Amino acid sequence: MAGAKPSYHLADPLTSLPGVGPALAQRMQGLGLEKIEDLLFYLPIRFQDRRQLFPIASLRPGMEAAVLGEIIALQRQQGRREQWLLQLRDASAARLTLRFFHLAPSQRQQWHAGRRLWCFGELRSGLHGLEMVHPEWQLADRADFHLPTHLTPFYASTEGLHQQQWRRFIALALALLPELADPLQGLLPDWPNLASSIRHLHQAAGAAPTPQDREWQRLALDELLAHHLALRRERARAAKQSLAVAIPDPRLWEQLRARLPFTPTAAQERVIAEAVADLARSQPMRRLLQGDVGSGKTLVAAAILLHAVAAGMQVAIMAPTEILAAQLQDRLSTWFAPLGLRVGLLLGSQGARQRRETLAAVQTNDIQVLCGTQALFQDEVTFFRLGLVIIDEQHRFGVDQRRRLLEKGALPHLLVMTATPIPRTLAMTLHADLDLSSIDALPPGRQAIETLVLADSRREELIRRLHRLLAEGRQIYWVCPLIEESEVLELQAAEASYAELQQALPGVAIGLLHGRQRSEEKSQIMEAFRSGALRLLVATTVIEVGVDVPNASVMVIEHAERLGLAQLHQLRGRVGRGTAASMCILLYRAPLSAKARERLRIMRASQDGFVIARKDLEMRGPGEFLGIRQSGERQLRIADFLRDEALLALLPRLAETLERDNPVAVEVLIRRWLGAASGYASIG
Ligand code: ADP
Ligand code: MG
Repeated sequence: MAGAKPSYHLADPLTSLPGVGPALAQRMQGLGLEKIEDLLFYLPIRFQDRRQLFPIASLRPGMEAAVLGEIIALQRQQGRREQWLLQLRDASAARLTLRFFHLAPSQRQQWHAGRRLWCFGELRSGLHGLEMVHPEWQLADRADFHLPTHLTPFYASTEGLHQQQWRRFIALALALLPELADPLQGLLPDWPNLASSIRHLHQAAGAAPTPQDREWQRLALDELLAHHLALRRERARAAKQSLAVAIPDPRLWEQLRARLPFTPTAAQERVIAEAVADLARSQPMRRLLQGDVGSGKTLVAAAILLHAVAAGMQVAIMAPTEILAAQLQDRLSTWFAPLGLRVGLLLGSQGARQRRETLAAVQTNDIQVLCGTQALFQDEVTFFRLGLVIIDEQHRFGVDQRRRLLEKGALPHLLVMTATPIPRTLAMTLHADLDLSSIDALPPGRQAIETLVLADSRREELIRRLHRLLAEGRQIYWVCPLIEESEVLELQAAEASYAELQQALPGVAIGLLHGRQRSEEKSQIMEAFRSGALRLLVATTVIEVGVDVPNASVMVIEHAERLGLAQLHQLRGRVGRGTAASMCILLYRAPLSAKARERLRIMRASQDGFVIARKDLEMRGPGEFLGIRQSGERQLRIADFLRDEALLALLPRLAETLERDNPVAVEVLIRRWLGAASGYASIG
């Protein structure tokens, strides 16, 4: 075998590897692995140290240990279930039993007394003393046996794939490392190279690798760079496209502004101007609008889209939920009807007739502004002249969805709006395909929200207090958040609280809003709450983002200890929008974990979205960054935005160099880390 060159290469499909048939390959595909090269980047999730041999006499129950001994006997144990017991003895003269169920004859036929066997497993005390159940084993008197020289890796697996198979396949891939292209070759003189980094991370010779190791950092850098390059490519693609220039026309906006009961803030005016300047160019706008909860993004969107509509474009606005889409349509219709514009609504749950009418009106430009959810993506939606797409509360949408919507029009302008503030270096990497505008001040006269943290045991006291607040004419949200990711349980919790409040507050008009209701029902309930007919609204987290009822000035959040900071901040942002002093009561159930206690403390101490987002970043574990994990958007495999923040600063220079000198390396990186399926790796 030595010296014989394998007949397969890193670029070949997994089935080229000896031992991988179509069925196995398919399973591995489920884990995102297609080519042999992909195995190199499939890093172990943990390691075990099996390099040391333990004398049998030193073993204790609960230990995991490697043992080398001589086979004394193999017995079949009679019983309901077939079992095999192998007795092992080593130099310490003590004995160990290895217990096997279902043992292939080909295996046990090798186990003659006197042969030497190495095994590794967890020890437990059995009837005959210490034993291991189904340990990993190898015959130690064979020529190809050697004790492990490095830590033993474990890989995230799937049914029907053993760790030994993983190790074998990955060892075969590692043998091909000299073939591996290093896209950053020569650019990082002080860093370990790619091949040795990969080897280190699979076959650590010293301690188990950690994210602080230079080798790990090297891979994290490659991964972050790949994402950064993909986004830059998107931007470059947009910049190459040229639109028929339509001069944005301020007249409709000026009419609306004259009618508003308030004056737009300087911050709003500034970001409106930034986006309107984009609309005047022949390259499509790609802009991210950041503004804290309640900063007035809707009005900004209205201003921008009126400039576009006045210039003859149609506009699509996408919201993450049906309630929000309906509310948006409602608000925009009120603003735009006097201007002679029609705002349509398209939801997945609508009846066929209504849909048909809306679709026809969109096609003929009788509807100039169309609000909706993902339903806007569907192929049957044809615009007369889609010129601008606005995505509200962007963190709920993935990049892929962004792309699909853009494919609808002749390369329209794009504005994405988010309340999730992120640090600037991060924004530059994560949203390298977008320009950034920030609304950095809230409208004047906003009330500070008094935030109370209250144990659930004081519920009755709280309800008595709500009773007084209701008597003062206040409206109240009562939010029952997600319980263990289950919509059904969440609904049950909301129904229970609804019943409880109805009983405790007789004569108060209480509504119940949840995700299972039909959208008309939801809109009716929201409308009744907005109009004041309902005084208290019990809701699941369907109201999390964007709902706007200025007279509602009190919010109770049940099980606040289960929610993340970003979510709590979004929820709390539903109050403090009117003129009344506002209050948010965070109900928790003891015992509180240290992290939950810290989150509630932060919520009480701060109302600033940037501060809260920063804390959120710091408190979350690796890989969990607000808005990214939540949305299922581009997940990182090895890097972590917070932990590896220092690497972000390296990206722009590296990206520029590669784009200029080595387009092949750019392609390699994007394919390697984002995969062909991402849609990024297509020809630029
Ligand atoms: P968000 O940025 O969270 O989407 P909204 O657009 O829902 O915020 O705005 C929150 C509330 O502030 C709305 O009731 C809106 O009408 C109001 N608002 C927006 N701009 C101003 C302003 N310049 N002055 C006063 N109120 C404003
Ligand atoms: Mg909003």
